Amino acid sequence: MKNIPFARISDTSMGKLLLPTRIALLLLLPLSVLAQKGQYPQDAFRSPLDITLTLSGTFCEVRGNHFHSGVDFRTKERTGLDVYAVANGYVSRIKELPYGFGKAVYIDHPNGYTSVYAHIQEFSPRLEKYVEKRQYEQETFSIDLRPGKGGLPVRQGEVIAKSGNSGSSSGPHLHFEIRDKESQEPINPLYFGFDVRDDQSPVIWNAMVYNPGKGKFSSEPHELGLKRRKAGEYFIAGNPVEVNSRRIGFGVRTFDKSYGSGHYNGTYFLQLTVDGDTLYRFKGDRFAFYQTRYANAHIDYATKRKRGLTYQQLFLEPNDGFPAYSAPKNRGIVHLDDNEVHDVTISAMDQHGNRAELSFEVQYNGNKDLFSNEKVWYDQMIVPGRSATFAYDGINIQIPKGSVYDSVNLDYQRRASASYLYSPIHKIHNKTTPLHKHLTLQIQPNELPDVSRSKAVIVYRPEEGSSWRSKGGEWHNNYLQTKTRAFGQYAVKIDTIPPKVRPVNFRPYQTISSKRKLKVKIDDHLAGIDSYRAEVDGNWLLMAYDAKNDLLTYTMDEHFPEGEHKFKLIVKDQVGNETIFKTKLTK
Ligand SMILES: [Zn+2]
Repeated sequence: MKNIPFARISDTSMGKLLLPTRIALLLLLPLSVLAQKGQYPQDAFRSPLDITLTLSGTFCEVRGNHFHSGVDFRTKERTGLDVYAVANGYVSRIKELPYGFGKAVYIDHPNGYTSVYAHIQEFSPRLEKYVEKRQYEQETFSIDLRPGKGGLPVRQGEVIAKSGNSGSSSGPHLHFEIRDKESQEPINPLYFGFDVRDDQSPVIWNAMVYNPGKGKFSSEPHELGLKRRKAGEYFIAGNPVEVNSRRIGFGVRTFDKSYGSGHYNGTYFLQLTVDGDTLYRFKGDRFAFYQTRYANAHIDYATKRKRGLTYQQLFLEPNDGFPAYSAPKNRGIVHLDDNEVHDVTISAMDQHGNRAELSFEVQYNGNKDLFSNEKVWYDQMIVPGRSATFAYDGINIQIPKGSVYDSVNLDYQRRASASYLYSPIHKIHNKTTPLHKHLTLQIQPNELPDVSRSKAVIVYRPEEGSSWRSKGGEWHNNYLQTKTRAFGQYAVKIDTIPPKVRPVNFRPYQTISSKRKLKVKIDDHLAGIDSYRAEVDGNWLLMAYDAKNDLLTYTMDEHFPEGEHKFKLIVKDQVGNETIFKTKLTK
């Protein structure tokens, strides 16, 4: 690795060794991080691309409901770049799905690691053939194969795929992971000596002060209003910050800019020190996939949902099991047990040692009017350590242990139904409180119209005015039952409308000899697409499904022979409504 992490910190900081906080930072950081470097092989893996590696996504950055499990390498804003096996090994897993990773290859290496390459456009011809053979055998597009040791060996530097934008990717890039082969836990790929350039400091946009224990107090957090002294150095105009709570927490809105990239990536390392004492440290080393949803405990979830802004909390919720925090004191909560002024330093750092620092002072002042400290009424409390059941007229809610990150005072209300709904509108708490586990929700519908009971679904919307989305549902006696991980509004709706099917680049009874692909849009208004089947003369035909574009694509090959053929496409939604598109096409 050309960039020796954190060597540069000591160089640039020497002139500023004035405050005790800075000394503490210098002593602690290089030790803890350099220890990481020796732990992983530095020369085992070559680059998965043959261009200069730049990042459009970093390990452990916060995404919607999860932490990012790899790095995103930029691919010159296009698809089709050669993707190389980073070392010898064998393909342990290869899959193709309409969402998520899209097309992805996993390679197991003899040194105990697995490399993962996702959102790719196409596999190498050998791998493509291997997958397609099984898709035709099993008559399915969505496939997740584990070829085993002897199946598909690869050599270091072999082209295994073309980079792409498949699955839930929102632009061309290569999603790349290194995992522990045994546990399949993703590890920060930049620990393995990949030569990634980055010469820019993280940016701190703003900071927030909290009155922690959101389940117990009604007080809102307050933005501190940052000023930049120079690159990487920030202060607060209204210094010292005066607070009327003896227990406070901080949060920070930060991004990491990297070389040659306009992307705002996640910041590798965050630290909070008060009077030189480290209270909180976050560092993206590794995690397990079952822990990834703790992203919602890590961020200020309410501000995210209300304002779309991602603040990372520099204190831990009581039920936060994410492993990125080292040696927090008091969960990162600052105790102001005197009326003195205290030095606060918030540091943000990338993996190359570029850093940003916000320094200010904080002081307790009981006369300040910052937090209301108003006790919330404990009526129907959900606490992290216990399961709970709530039953009201026509609705049952079962909440497993560990569903919330802090105590929540459940707010339930109901409203009379709209004419297109078949139950009252049940308002279950609010969209700004995250849920870690699935609740089981049962709703009793009103009298249903004269259609099959199977057409009824539970629908959800976060709040008034947003559109209803299906959450499915199965019948349990007179209740529809589903599982959900979102608080908000629930009701029952009927779906009798079949999916829409629309050819994009051909017309019925057309001669299609010149076409390389057949494209069809499929879409379902409520329950969602459940399955589809394309046929030529009654034989199953492989059509790739790209869920984000509602698009089915068949790429011309020997499965559509020359001459006139019957083409048929059957699309079903989740409640069994079905559309059949039939025509003859001539090649
Ligand atoms: Zn990614």
